[in-house]
Amino acid sequence: MTEETIFHRILRGEIPCDEVYSDSLCLAFRDIQPAAPVHILVIPRKSLPSLMEAQKEDSNLLGHLLLVAKKVAIKEGLSNWRTVINTGAEAGQTVFHLHIHVIGGRTLTWPPG
Ligand code: C5P
Repeated sequence: MTEETIFHRILRGEIPCDEVYSDSLCLAFRDIQPAAPVHILVIPRKSLPSLMEAQKEDSNLLGHLLLVAKKVAIKEGLSNWRTVINTGAEAGQTVFHLHIHVIGGRTLTWPPG
């Protein structure tokens, strides 16, 4: 069993979200604290606290999440964007349910803080 997070509640529809894409494997919705004009989170329906817990059996799911990240970026009209997966608190992870940030709509600098 993995620990309950706010994303589990969003997946169950108990907390509303600004959904942009949904299928049997994942959900994508707008981040409530956007870091850029476009800031979308792509999350698996499967409970995985972070990329650290992902296993070989999750290969297809991880590939799917990346392709959905591309799909939503293109749907938003982006041709340049950044995908980010924070893994662990010191890397900036605050919600321990795996998620891919899709960030774009402005010039992005590198490296991140
Ligand atoms: O990578 P990290 O764990 O920090 O990202 C979590 C993201 O989830 C944050 O960008 C935060 O704004 C977002 N969030 C959200 N809706 C919530 C809770 C958190 O979009 N209800």
